[in-house]
Amino acid sequence: MGTKFKINLDDCTGCGACEDACPDVFKVVDEKSTVNNELVDKNIDACKEAKASCPDQAIVSV
Ligand code: SF4
Repeated sequence: MGTKFKINLDDCTGCGACEDACPDVFKVVDEKSTVNNELVDKNIDACKEAKASCPDQAIVSV
């Protein structure tokens, strides 16, 4: 519970893999991913998949 993520913007390439894995939480805006942390707990498995799917390890737990 209470898991939150942030995007390391220097590493994010805007590839969209995180949004594909968990569109409720991750959304690419202007070629950088954004996170809606309010919906993480409800979508935790998909969020973990999104984190694992990032080719640049730009998604970090905070
Ligand atoms: S998967 Fe990683 S690099 Fe691709 S948009 Fe998401 S955070 Fe950025």
